Amino acid sequence: MPWSLKFGSIFGIPIELHITFLLLLLIFSIFGFIPLLVIVLLFASVLVHELAHSLVGRHYGAKIKKITLLPIGGVSQMEAIPKGHEFAIAVIGPFTSIALGAVLFLFGSLFGLNMYFDLNWVELTSLKDIVRIVMSLNFLLGLFNIIPAFPMDGGRVLRAFLSTRMEYLKATEISVRIGQGLAIVFAFVGVFYNPWLIIIAFFIYIGGMGEYQSTQMSSALKGIKVKDLMVKDVVTVSPQDTLEDFEKLLIEKRHKGYPVVFDGNLLGIITINELLSVPRIKWIETKVQDVMVKDIIIASPKMEVFELHKKLTEKNLGRAPVLENGKLIGFISKTDILKFSEILMLKRM
Ligand SMILES: [Zn+2]
Repeated sequence: MPWSLKFGSIFGIPIELHITFLLLLLIFSIFGFIPLLVIVLLFASVLVHELAHSLVGRHYGAKIKKITLLPIGGVSQMEAIPKGHEFAIAVIGPFTSIALGAVLFLFGSLFGLNMYFDLNWVELTSLKDIVRIVMSLNFLLGLFNIIPAFPMDGGRVLRAFLSTRMEYLKATEISVRIGQGLAIVFAFVGVFYNPWLIIIAFFIYIGGMGEYQSTQMSSALKGIKVKDLMVKDVVTVSPQDTLEDFEKLLIEKRHKGYPVVFDGNLLGIITINELLSVPRIKWIETKVQDVMVKDIIIASPKMEVFELHKKLTEKNLGRAPVLENGKLIGFISKTDILKFSEILMLKRM
């Protein structure tokens, strides 16, 4: 997620803090130490909630990339949610938050504290009140996430339920529509009562749309392999070529990117972007090897194109060479994958 800072890692899962959390810390430090402490404990509560999702996800074989913490909740990024286990992975989050709230309730009551639902923490003066507030925040976190507003937990539970009776894509579509409807309600209520709701509504609306598009694409591209879409007669560039030579090739061949190959070995890729990053007067003395991208993704012919598309997007790359037994056999671009998926989606409409 953009605007996130790496903060540490737990159980081998990197934890990122969204910048708005730091902003919140800064704002609440004005109100004094206790409100600040509440924010830190809210952060810990969201972290416990997300760890629950991640650990259950990992139990079912998902690779957890990272957890990003936002003030309104967190995001556990998994490499593909294991089919058939979305229900368990989603439901454990709210369950954990509510259980944590219940534990705090018992703990507070045991020590004679007055435990009731209360979120007004700005004017707190006693450390004892913190237990009550953190309990309330955990209940809120748990209950709010049960609302079936996809991509929130409740919405994921809904999709998991729907997908037992219909196609996964259809189940996603219905869940997203319901989520977006609820987002509009949240935004409307937010205008009158609480501006936080407007921000949450925004995340739900955009998040739902993104996930629907990605599900749509993955279902359209299902079963399509890299070898089905790759360009086979690959034009390669030598690392010794100057950028001026490369420009000529660009004009002649009209592709935007090329693999760089020397002596049969793939060294990297070069695109029009690398060319344009060097001032024109230096093109004559700059070699392809000086500017080529070396940190690339290598595709195999049997890889699913959707998986490759995801990897390219994560790494912010536009294309990948295809290797079989160490030999360059093709080249595939994200634009080609996208165009192809759009055509397939048209066919299904
Ligand atoms: Zn959750």
